[in-house]
Amino acid sequence: MIAHVDSYLPLEACGLLAGRGTKVDAVLPVKNQAKSPVRFVMDPLEQLHAFEWIDSRHLDLIGIFHSHPTGPETVSPTDIAEAAYAVVHVILARADQGWRAHGFWIENGGFQEVHLQIG
Ligand SMILES: [Zn+2]
Repeated sequence: MIAHVDSYLPLEACGLLAGRGTKVDAVLPVKNQAKSPVRFVMDPLEQLHAFEWIDSRHLDLIGIFHSHPTGPETVSPTDIAEAAYAVVHVILARADQGWRAHGFWIENGGFQEVHLQIG
């Protein structure tokens, strides 16, 4: 995930998180067709292929991640407006020399931070 968002700088990067229950088993980078430093639009074909890959391994889509190369460390109004799946949204915000990850549950025009266990 870090390598992918690093490789996209200064643009936003995005992708899917697959697993079972609340445990992530696979990170699937998806091309950001918006090519923007402040928003992302998943490339539909790559997204479709990622969904097929997830299905073929009998995993579930449990999260979507994207980076905020210029912050903030929270969801943006665009993120709330465009949240299309009831999954955890992981945002990697540029902090110091690295990235800080926060998870959010977005629902009904609002959001709540959820605890991420990394490692
Ligand atoms: Zn965002």
